[in-house]
Amino acid sequence: MDRICIEGLQLFARHGVFPEENEKGQHFVVHAALLVDTEAAGIQDDLSLSVDYAAVCEVIRDTMTSRIYQLIETAAQETALAILHAFPSVNSVELEVCKPEAPIPMAFRSVSVKLQRGWHTAVIALGSNMGDSEGFLNGAVQAFRESRYFRHVQVSDFLWTKPYGYTEQADFLNGVVLCETVYSPHALLDVLQAAEQRAGRERKLHWGPRTLDLDLIFYEDKIISDARLQVPHPGVQDRTFVLAPLVQLAPYYWHPVLHKTAAQLLEDLA
Ligand code: ATP
Ligand code: CA
Ligand code: CA
Repeated sequence: MDRICIEGLQLFARHGVFPEENEKGQHFVVHAALLVDTEAAGIQDDLSLSVDYAAVCEVIRDTMTSRIYQLIETAAQETALAILHAFPSVNSVELEVCKPEAPIPMAFRSVSVKLQRGWHTAVIALGSNMGDSEGFLNGAVQAFRESRYFRHVQVSDFLWTKPYGYTEQADFLNGVVLCETVYSPHALLDVLQAAEQRAGRERKLHWGPRTLDLDLIFYEDKIISDARLQVPHPGVQDRTFVLAPLVQLAPYYWHPVLHKTAAQLLEDLA
């Protein structure tokens, strides 16, 4: 991916944990690198196909100066999000926020936080078989749509399915969301579990009845296997109720371990 770089943008802002920093303010320096495809702009010599770096500088200044954050971590994170939303062609941004006048009683050149944030494709399966199932699924989708950490949220049709695993329970309403998110996989799992909690889910029986179940099925083409998270979800190839709605949205989604598309995996189940 091509990079557009802005180095050493100087700002005056009031971030800091000490009240004196918030009152007096101090100088900050921001470096930004935007990962963006400039090929079409380069071929046609057309700014509208690329990113206007003067406009990027304005977004950085406005975000850094319109609010006061205790941490430069938060200032950097909010600035990265603002850039990602203001310039949809930017896939990812590297941002460094430096605080050369930080209150440290020693000689030093600067302290800084450097982070990278970008849009990542994710597939999330939704299920419910207790209470107002349609309401719980729609509520989850709405929460994604309202969050600045998601964009391009697409939803499949919802379908009723016989229960899987523990079968002595009500039918499930299932669906799939295809979206782009700024969250890392583990941060996304936290968000999904918080949404389950808000829907009043109690974790009693594995595969038992629940108001809302949100499973991360795919995250880009990443393969993750640790104590909290397995991606791709290990059950995807056995579950028509995940594959059929996914095929509606993204028949060519590639399973990075089984090396088949969603459509091929669904066909294998027929
Ligand atoms: P299944 O995952 O087979 O559909 P389930 O959804 O009923 O079963 P839960 O009780 O909701 O299982 O989750 C159990 C644990 O699974 C969670 O605490 C979570 O840490 C872990 N987990 C591992 N991989 C994933 C994933 N891809 N998506 C969601 N949870 C996951
Ligand atoms: Ca599940
Ligand atoms: Ca789950």
